[in-house]
Amino acid sequence: MHGWATFRDGKTVEVETETGIQVIRAEAVVIATGSAPVELPFLPFGGPVISSTEALALSEVPKTLAVIGGGYIGLELGMAFAKMGSHVTVVEALPRVLAQYDAELTRPVLKRLGELGIEVMTEAKFKGLSTQGQVGKGDALLVETADGKNAKVAADRILVTVGRKPLTEGWGLEQIDLDRVGKFIRIDDQCRTSMRGIYAIGDVTGEPMLAHRAMAQGEMVAEIVAGHKRSWDKRAIPAICFTDPELVTAGLAPEEAKALAGEIKIGQFPFAANGRAMTKQGEDGFVRVIARADNHLVLGIQAVGQGVSELSAAFGLALEMGARLEDIAGTIHAHPTQGEGFQEAALKALGHALHI
Ligand SMILES: Cc1cc2nc3c(=O)[nH]c(=O)nc-3n(C[C@H](O)[C@H](O)[C@H](O)COP(=O)(O)OP(=O)(O)OC[C@H]3O[C@@H](n4cnc5c(N)ncnc54)[C@H](O)[C@@H]3O)c2cc1C
Repeated sequence: MHGWATFRDGKTVEVETETGIQVIRAEAVVIATGSAPVELPFLPFGGPVISSTEALALSEVPKTLAVIGGGYIGLELGMAFAKMGSHVTVVEALPRVLAQYDAELTRPVLKRLGELGIEVMTEAKFKGLSTQGQVGKGDALLVETADGKNAKVAADRILVTVGRKPLTEGWGLEQIDLDRVGKFIRIDDQCRTSMRGIYAIGDVTGEPMLAHRAMAQGEMVAEIVAGHKRSWDKRAIPAICFTDPELVTAGLAPEEAKALAGEIKIGQFPFAANGRAMTKQGEDGFVRVIARADNHLVLGIQAVGQGVSELSAAFGLALEMGARLEDIAGTIHAHPTQGEGFQEAALKALGHALHI
């Protein structure tokens, strides 16, 4: 059924369809309203000011593109437009772009940003439009730079990627008054909300806002509603940043692992010593494996490099199955593949990598 749904009460939903209002009564209701891009208070979406949704539907490549917000969405799109010929400037308020990752992991991405001619302004604040109404004709954004000076950034389009917020308005949440965690709907390990019979999944329930998390929750809730015994017991939700090169993270980052386990072992293997990466001219980057020092249980795995998104399956599997360093090191990895870098990183953590 196509249409906008609004809760009337905990068991009843009204749907505005093309043929009029339809009322649905159900024993179980799943809220999966997703998320929406965050707007800057002084730069509302409209005209040349666009969100990722409009950026993905542009009919022509802008000559100049300003990206406000250097997170993963801003950089994925900024890099794609730079490759299509846009002159891209990224304006980021924090001291680094991709600030959710550690600096070592993002270094190859920063290098590539430079190669693509993308200008990155960090500790920079959007101040306004230089001449109201002219943006969209290559006119400028006013930005305060890290040293407190004013700068102008050319922009036919201004892509605002400063975050996403759960979509909790416009569908009658006030009728059912569910518990929240911050802006998100609170759920338990079965995706049950504070009201019996109402489940919630996906972006509206919190971080990480990822498609595969939403799908796994949806599948679990369908089974629970069908009477199966299921609960959320995932150890890892791999996340990929589709920049060039790509970034993959699964499980804990080094600092998080240290905080949890105290002593840790880290094995890092560079793609510069990996045959397949060399033949693809993708030697920038590495695989990093983090494990507990006492029993070698793997706690986190990260990689940066060309095409490493495909390694996310192996990373997720290793964490989900409770692998120890010896399990990964002792698994024969086909040659020549980038996956060998994963085995070598585990070997390195054990003190005997083969190719470095
Ligand atoms: C630019 C961009 C890139 C991304 N890249 C990735 C990626 O590479 N990998 C990844 O895993 N995730 C990625 N994500 C995140 C991913 O898209 C979300 O995590 C995922 O879509 C969340 O699924 P969801 O079902 O919670 O919500 P959504 O996919 O947002 O779906 C919610 C749907 O509900 C509809 N809806 C809302 N309210 C109502 C209502 N009242 N009545 C009827 N319909 C309603 C909406 O119109 C929408 O169609 C990206 C997101 C963006 C914006």
